[in-house]
Amino acid sequence: MADHIMSTYKRLPIQFQRGEGIWLWDNENRQYLDALSGIAVCGLGHAHPAVTRAISEQAGLLVHTSNLYGIALQEQLADTLCELSAMDRVFFSNSGAEANEAAIKIARLYGHSRGIDNPAIIVMEKSFHGRTLATLTATGNRKVQAGFEPLVQGFIRVPYNDLDAIRTVAANSNNVVAVLVEPIQGEGGINIPDDDYLQGIRRLCDDNHWLMMLDEIQSGMGRTGKWFAWQHSTVLPDVATLAKALGNGVPIGACLASGQAALMMQPGNHGSTFGGNPLACRAAIAVLEALKQEQLVTHAAALGTHLLDGFNTALSGLEGVTAIRGRGLMIGIELDRPCAELVGRAMEQGLLINVTAERVVRLLPPLITTVKQADIIIEQVGELIREFLTP
Ligand SMILES: *Cc1c(COP(=O)(O)O)cnc(C)c1O
Repeated sequence: MADHIMSTYKRLPIQFQRGEGIWLWDNENRQYLDALSGIAVCGLGHAHPAVTRAISEQAGLLVHTSNLYGIALQEQLADTLCELSAMDRVFFSNSGAEANEAAIKIARLYGHSRGIDNPAIIVMEKSFHGRTLATLTATGNRKVQAGFEPLVQGFIRVPYNDLDAIRTVAANSNNVVAVLVEPIQGEGGINIPDDDYLQGIRRLCDDNHWLMMLDEIQSGMGRTGKWFAWQHSTVLPDVATLAKALGNGVPIGACLASGQAALMMQPGNHGSTFGGNPLACRAAIAVLEALKQEQLVTHAAALGTHLLDGFNTALSGLEGVTAIRGRGLMIGIELDRPCAELVGRAMEQGLLINVTAERVVRLLPPLITTVKQADIIIEQVGELIREFLTP
């Protein structure tokens, strides 16, 4: 019975017992293709042998000490993340929201260090940054905020993919210290900005001495066909946040920073009891190694193209499909009407998908998905949408 669970989620009437690769089995042993990966978490699929081995081994050695002591696995993970991202330093958290909290606190420290007493961060419409008070304030969705007022001060909202809107803020405010933005909006509906957007933000940040802070919590860890989505462009952010796929399901988040931003946090400014503990770091190290060894980042790029091509063919000429968007394995199919019921219909057919922003079918399949399995996804999702739109 779920009577003792707070009803923060409207849950589907289904529970899973075990998983393997892209497959899950429920408690009646029915099999499901997981095209959502626990919302972009299980990039390596379920029960990946290397991750399982790393977790089991580490559980028998040492799960937790404290950030009062050195943690070799944390240092090793930070080294690898900095090598992949060209960033300088990492703070480890337990979730995405906490990684963004660290970013927001860095921006405020940075502002105060420049003599700005009431620092503000530019954030976007339709964004999602988490459920803590600061991150729900940064989030561009009233539903996430409603009932939790008073919200946190110090955020200025502009439309996504609109450099002029940021320029207007720059011209009219003197307390902006940072821009916080998703390189591709996930919850907002798989919104992919123009090619020059990040470059434009980088330039505005340079001109105005702002920090460029990228929320890569959903788009990072190889999902879009690069280790981090900003690597599709030539920019380098000052701050970048990770979580979701970093531990393949073991809770871990990270706030990466470079240059001045990396030097803001000093002892006493910030912390976490669990953040970056040996178990979580060992899991994340295994995840990074597996992604490299199996060359899954380039695979994600190729498979993403295959999926997009497949959907464009499968759904071509279908009135009611207003857009098919994707980069790597972040894919959104936008319809002209609300389509939340597709989630349940898919589930009945043994397929796990998601609908976000009311009208966008969102697919976030594991990076280990094969071309054959991708073809199953194309066929099943294509058929599902076709049936839904042509009753
Ligand atoms: C999921 C997500 C978060 C929040 O992460 P939690 O681990 O749920 O706190 C923040 N930003 C983006 C872009 C996300 O997709």
